[in-house]
Amino acid sequence: MLKFLKQVGDYAKEAVQAGRYIGQGLSVTFDHMRRRPVTVQYPYEKLIPSERFRGRIHFEFDKCIACEVCVRVCPINLPVVDWDFDKATKKKKLKHYSIDFGVCIFCGNCVEFCPTNCLSMTEDYELSTYDRHELNYDSVALGRLPYKVTLDPMVTPLRELVYLPKGVMDPHGLPADAPRPGARPEDLVEQEK
Ligand code: SF4
Ligand code: SF4
Repeated sequence: MLKFLKQVGDYAKEAVQAGRYIGQGLSVTFDHMRRRPVTVQYPYEKLIPSERFRGRIHFEFDKCIACEVCVRVCPINLPVVDWDFDKATKKKKLKHYSIDFGVCIFCGNCVEFCPTNCLSMTEDYELSTYDRHELNYDSVALGRLPYKVTLDPMVTPLRELVYLPKGVMDPHGLPADAPRPGARPEDLVEQEK
Protein backbone atom coordinates (compact mmCIF):
# COMPACT_ATOMS: atom_id res chain seq x y z
CA MET A 1 0.00 0.00 0.00
CA LEU A 2 2.82 2.32 0.96
CA LYS A 3 4.63 1.55 -2.27
CA PHE A 4 1.51 2.35 -4.25
CA LEU A 5 1.07 5.69 -2.47
CA LYS A 6 4.73 6.56 -3.15
CA GLN A 7 4.22 5.79 -6.83
CA VAL A 8 1.15 8.04 -6.94
CA GLY A 9 3.10 10.80 -5.17
CA ASP A 10 6.02 10.51 -7.60
CA TYR A 11 3.65 10.56 -10.54
CA ALA A 12 1.93 13.69 -9.28
CA LYS A 13 5.30 15.38 -8.69
CA GLU A 14 6.45 14.55 -12.21
CA ALA A 15 3.16 15.78 -13.68
CA VAL A 16 3.49 19.09 -11.86
CA GLN A 17 7.14 19.39 -12.95
CA ALA A 18 6.23 18.64 -16.57
CA GLY A 19 3.46 21.25 -16.42
CA ARG A 20 5.89 23.80 -15.02
CA TYR A 21 8.45 23.13 -17.76
CA ILE A 22 5.81 23.42 -20.47
CA GLY A 23 4.69 26.69 -18.91
CA GLN A 24 8.26 27.97 -18.84
CA GLY A 25 8.73 26.98 -22.48
CA LEU A 26 5.53 28.72 -23.51
CA SER A 27 6.42 31.88 -21.61
CA VAL A 28 9.78 32.01 -23.44
CA THR A 29 8.02 31.49 -26.77
CA PHE A 30 5.47 34.24 -26.04
CA ASP A 31 8.25 36.51 -24.85
CA HIS A 32 10.05 36.01 -28.21
CA MET A 33 6.89 37.11 -30.02
CA ARG A 34 7.28 40.57 -28.48
CA ARG A 35 10.81 40.98 -29.89
CA ARG A 36 11.69 42.56 -33.21
CA PRO A 37 12.16 39.84 -35.87
CA VAL A 38 15.79 39.45 -36.99
CA THR A 39 14.62 38.73 -40.56
CA VAL A 40 16.38 40.69 -43.29
CA GLN A 41 13.55 41.37 -45.73
CA TYR A 42 15.35 40.67 -49.02
CA PRO A 43 15.02 42.21 -51.61
CA TYR A 44 13.94 45.41 -49.82
CA GLU A 45 16.56 45.01 -47.14
CA LYS A 46 20.02 43.67 -47.97
CA LEU A 47 23.05 43.01 -45.83
CA ILE A 48 26.11 45.01 -46.85
CA PRO A 49 28.73 42.41 -47.79
CA SER A 50 31.92 42.47 -45.74
CA GLU A 51 35.09 44.19 -46.92
CA ARG A 52 36.63 40.89 -47.98
CA PHE A 53 33.54 39.47 -49.60
CA ARG A 54 34.40 37.47 -52.70
CA GLY A 55 31.78 38.35 -55.28
CA ARG A 56 31.92 38.73 -59.06
CA ILE A 57 35.41 39.45 -60.36
CA HIS A 58 36.14 42.87 -61.85
CA PHE A 59 38.73 43.13 -64.63
CA GLU A 60 40.55 46.17 -66.00
CA PHE A 61 41.58 45.49 -69.61
CA ASP A 62 44.18 48.27 -69.75
CA LYS A 63 46.16 46.94 -66.81
CA CYS A 64 46.42 43.30 -67.95
CA ILE A 65 49.86 42.25 -69.21
CA ALA A 66 48.67 38.79 -70.35
CA CYS A 67 51.08 37.00 -67.99
CA GLU A 68 48.52 34.22 -67.40
CA VAL A 69 49.33 33.96 -63.70
CA CYS A 70 45.59 34.05 -63.02
CA VAL A 71 45.19 30.94 -65.17
CA ARG A 72 48.01 29.09 -63.43
CA VAL A 73 46.84 29.76 -59.86
CA CYS A 74 43.19 29.07 -60.64
CA PRO A 75 42.18 25.63 -59.27
CA ILE A 76 40.47 24.95 -62.59
CA ASN A 77 42.60 27.12 -64.89
CA LEU A 78 39.47 29.04 -65.67
CA PRO A 79 40.34 32.55 -66.98
CA VAL A 80 40.72 32.56 -70.76
CA VAL A 81 43.56 34.87 -71.79
CA ASP A 82 43.82 35.36 -75.52
CA TRP A 83 46.88 37.32 -76.62
CA ASP A 84 49.15 37.94 -79.60
CA PHE A 85 52.84 38.68 -79.61
CA ASP A 86 53.33 42.13 -81.12
CA LYS A 87 56.67 41.93 -82.95
CA ALA A 88 56.94 45.68 -83.38
CA THR A 89 56.75 46.51 -79.68
CA LYS A 90 58.03 43.06 -78.53
CA LYS A 91 55.13 42.91 -76.09
CA LYS A 92 52.18 40.67 -75.58
CA LYS A 93 48.97 42.25 -76.79
CA LEU A 94 45.80 41.19 -75.01
CA LYS A 95 43.05 40.34 -77.46
CA HIS A 96 40.41 38.89 -75.24
CA TYR A 97 39.91 37.97 -71.61
CA SER A 98 36.98 36.07 -70.12
CA ILE A 99 35.88 34.23 -67.01
CA ASP A 100 32.95 31.83 -66.93
CA PHE A 101 31.16 32.43 -63.62
CA GLY A 102 29.17 29.27 -64.15
CA VAL A 103 32.38 27.38 -63.38
CA CYS A 104 34.25 29.80 -61.10
CA ILE A 105 34.39 28.83 -57.43
CA PHE A 106 35.08 32.41 -56.24
CA CYS A 107 38.21 31.38 -54.37
CA GLY A 108 39.96 34.68 -55.21
CA ASN A 109 43.31 33.10 -56.13
CA CYS A 110 43.44 34.95 -59.44
CA VAL A 111 42.84 38.27 -57.67
CA GLU A 112 45.43 37.43 -55.02
CA PHE A 113 48.21 36.68 -57.50
CA CYS A 114 47.58 39.11 -60.35
CA PRO A 115 50.79 41.20 -60.45
CA THR A 116 49.21 44.34 -61.87
CA ASN A 117 46.06 44.43 -59.69
CA CYS A 118 43.89 44.35 -62.77
CA LEU A 119 41.63 41.78 -61.13
CA SER A 120 39.58 42.54 -58.04
CA MET A 121 36.68 41.06 -56.13
CA THR A 122 33.42 42.99 -56.04
CA GLU A 123 30.50 42.64 -53.65
CA ASP A 124 28.24 41.55 -56.51
CA TYR A 125 26.52 38.27 -55.58
CA GLU A 126 23.31 38.53 -57.64
CA LEU A 127 24.52 36.79 -60.78
CA SER A 128 21.59 34.52 -61.59
CA THR A 129 20.48 34.10 -65.20
CA TYR A 130 18.07 31.87 -67.10
CA ASP A 131 20.82 30.82 -69.49
CA ARG A 132 24.16 29.59 -68.13
CA HIS A 133 25.96 30.78 -71.25
CA GLU A 134 25.28 34.34 -70.15
CA LEU A 135 27.56 33.69 -67.16
CA ASN A 136 30.61 33.59 -69.43
CA TYR A 137 31.68 37.21 -68.94
CA ASP A 138 33.92 38.78 -71.58
CA SER A 139 36.35 41.60 -70.83
CA VAL A 140 33.63 44.24 -71.29
CA ALA A 141 31.18 42.53 -68.93
CA LEU A 142 33.99 41.94 -66.44
CA GLY A 143 34.81 45.64 -66.51
CA ARG A 144 31.31 46.79 -65.56
CA LEU A 145 31.07 48.68 -62.31
CA PRO A 146 29.64 46.42 -59.64
CA TYR A 147 26.26 46.80 -57.99
CA LYS A 148 26.50 48.60 -54.66
CA VAL A 149 23.83 47.84 -52.13
CA THR A 150 24.37 51.18 -50.36
CA LEU A 151 23.63 53.16 -53.55
CA ASP A 152 20.37 51.38 -54.40
CA PRO A 153 17.46 53.74 -53.59
CA MET A 154 15.03 50.79 -53.39
CA VAL A 155 17.05 48.97 -50.75
CA THR A 156 17.63 49.53 -47.05
CA PRO A 157 21.22 48.41 -46.48
CA LEU A 158 21.87 46.65 -43.20
CA ARG A 159 25.21 46.04 -41.53
CA GLU A 160 26.48 42.57 -40.77
CA LEU A 161 27.05 41.62 -37.14
CA VAL A 162 30.80 42.34 -37.11
CA TYR A 163 30.22 45.90 -38.31
CA LEU A 164 27.71 46.81 -35.60
CA PRO A 165 28.82 49.10 -32.76
CA LYS A 166 29.92 47.42 -29.53
CA GLY A 167 27.00 45.84 -27.69
CA VAL A 168 24.53 46.21 -30.59
CA MET A 169 23.09 42.98 -31.99
CA ASP A 170 20.39 44.23 -34.38
CA PRO A 171 21.24 46.21 -37.55
CA HIS A 172 17.66 47.52 -37.95
CA GLY A 173 17.21 51.23 -37.27
CA LEU A 174 20.93 51.85 -36.82
CA PRO A 175 22.02 55.38 -37.89
CA ALA A 176 24.30 55.36 -40.95
CA ASP A 177 27.10 57.14 -39.07
CA ALA A 178 27.11 54.70 -36.14
CA PRO A 179 30.72 53.78 -35.35
CA ARG A 180 32.24 50.40 -36.12
CA PRO A 181 33.38 48.33 -33.15
CA GLY A 182 36.89 48.98 -31.88
CA ALA A 183 39.34 51.68 -32.87
CA ARG A 184 41.14 51.99 -36.20
CA PRO A 185 44.98 51.81 -36.15
CA GLU A 186 45.22 55.51 -37.03
CA ASP A 187 42.93 56.37 -34.08
CA LEU A 188 45.16 54.35 -31.75
CA VAL A 189 48.24 56.18 -33.03
CA GLU A 190 46.43 59.46 -32.45
CA GLN A 191 45.56 58.38 -28.88
CA GLU A 192 49.21 57.50 -28.18
CA LYS A 193 50.37 61.00 -29.11
S1 SF4 B 1 38.07 33.08 -58.35
FE1 SF4 B 1 39.18 31.13 -58.22
S2 SF4 B 1 38.02 29.74 -59.56
FE2 SF4 B 1 37.36 31.82 -60.08
S3 SF4 B 1 38.67 32.40 -61.79
FE3 SF4 B 1 39.66 33.17 -59.92
S4 SF4 B 1 41.09 31.54 -59.33
FE4 SF4 B 1 39.65 30.65 -60.80
S1 SF4 C 1 47.29 37.64 -63.72
FE1 SF4 C 1 46.44 39.69 -64.09
S2 SF4 C 1 47.88 40.62 -65.57
FE2 SF4 C 1 48.26 38.41 -65.61
S3 SF4 C 1 46.94 37.65 -67.29
FE3 SF4 C 1 45.79 37.45 -65.39
S4 SF4 C 1 44.58 39.30 -65.29
FE4 SF4 C 1 46.21 39.69 -66.77
